[in-house]
Amino acid sequence: MRRLGEDLAALGLQLVDIENYQSDESGSGRFPPHAVVQARNAEEVQAVLRYAREHRVPVTPWGRGSGKSGAALAERGGILLSLEKMDRILEVSREDMVCVVEPGVILQTLQTAVEAQGLFYPPDPNSQAWCSLGGNLAHNAGGPRALKYGVTRDYVLGVEAVLPTGELIKAGHRSWKGVAGYDITQLLVGSEGTLAVITKAMLKLIPLPRAVSTMIAFFPDEDAAALGVQKIFGAGLLPRACELLDGPTMRYVSPKAPFKFPDNVGGALIVEHDGNSDDAVMEELAKSGEMCTEAGAIDVVAAQDEAQRRRIWETRRMISTALMSVRPFKISEDVAVPRGQLVELIRRVRGIGERYGLPTACYGHAGDGNLHANLLFGSAEEREKSHAAVDDLLQAAIDLGGTITGEHGVGMAKRAFLAKEQSPQLIELQRRIKHAFDPENLLNPGKILPERPQA
Ligand SMILES: Cc1cc2nc3c(=O)[nH]c(=O)nc-3n(C[C@H](O)[C@H](O)[C@H](O)COP(=O)(O)OP(=O)(O)OC[C@H]3O[C@@H](n4cnc5c(N)ncnc54)[C@H](O)[C@@H]3O)c2cc1C
Repeated sequence: MRRLGEDLAALGLQLVDIENYQSDESGSGRFPPHAVVQARNAEEVQAVLRYAREHRVPVTPWGRGSGKSGAALAERGGILLSLEKMDRILEVSREDMVCVVEPGVILQTLQTAVEAQGLFYPPDPNSQAWCSLGGNLAHNAGGPRALKYGVTRDYVLGVEAVLPTGELIKAGHRSWKGVAGYDITQLLVGSEGTLAVITKAMLKLIPLPRAVSTMIAFFPDEDAAALGVQKIFGAGLLPRACELLDGPTMRYVSPKAPFKFPDNVGGALIVEHDGNSDDAVMEELAKSGEMCTEAGAIDVVAAQDEAQRRRIWETRRMISTALMSVRPFKISEDVAVPRGQLVELIRRVRGIGERYGLPTACYGHAGDGNLHANLLFGSAEEREKSHAAVDDLLQAAIDLGGTITGEHGVGMAKRAFLAKEQSPQLIELQRRIKHAFDPENLLNPGKILPERPQA
């Protein structure tokens, strides 16, 4: 690898210091690449991949490094290919309700741009202020609004991408509908940068809802809050977001929360409805509030203005960092279960924490059964216990009919657990797909799929 930097520079590629590209938000550790290239266009992406193939060098695509599964880490060294400089919104078409973007566009930048035109791009991972659309596509990111509007996949009409061979392909279409051939666009969505590097995306936009109302309901405990979720859906309501905070989460976040919690509460639901009529939206919000009261809510507060609404969401968004004040480390699992199993999932997480003597905290997208179940730890002894606890936690999600990852992806962090959820045949089929795209196994090698067992 000694000549790598010189070779890449000789190709006219932009190299930057590796310092800020060694770790992501997964807590998986530091994995220094041998070189970091900031691509400025698709031709440079092609040049990197052609060079890598010729010299058998691994390449790992990088969006903004906000990923939580270690998928963007250069586990095997080689070239880290950053797409952050390819950050242009190329087109927003009101007529077609489509936009065309480069992969390095920050999600929030796109949302602000399209909303100024009365259009809406709903996917909203809580990292929206710094994650990139390329990373969103590669992880098929979700977020609170996925409950009503679906995940990233539901808005991707087509992509331009560079294959590990260096060839440029265009898959999909600009029309909202289209079924020609295998759906390569959707295969690339969620493939975690293991099959191709996305250099452009055509995204579907919808009309921006004109009315949005938000409330927070407080419960004596998280079981009652989870029951509130069931009641809301049981009443035929479909909020655009329904986020749960369990008792420990509320305790840990409370000292710094911009939205102050009442005393003696042990669970909360943030519920948001939207539509085009203020009255209809308020009516739905009131009905959701009634359902929470039926489930045992002690208090239900509807945001009176935009500032109060913002404080509620800021409180939700700061949870991940607030948990670090309890213990220096956390394992944050983003399991998802069928909605009917939510109460049971929360009970099982609590039980696992008690069994291993580890603090736990559950919060997140309860409306679609996707909870961030956190195991907090500090000492080496606690770290040891946390590994066994994770095993139990993921097994619990699978036993309840769910999945080991609802939105963060497999990456490195969950690779060892994929076989818990998927059969050997299904994993082998995915290995064959990977081989068809990347016969030399150079693009983000080792991610998602576990090694074949030794014969
Ligand atoms: C505080 C916080 C809150 C979060 N909340 C959510 C949430 O609500 N929902 C959710 O889904 N996620 C959430 N995440 C996780 C993360 O932000 C998302 O997975 C996001 O999509 C990653 O985007 P990124 O640009 O940072 O990608 P990176 O982390 O840089 O990369 C992620 C993956 O994408 C690949 N990749 C990047 N660009 C390309 C490209 N152009 N072509 C091919 N592959 C590429 C990488 O190789 C890697 O496999 C959260 C993270 C944080 C830190």
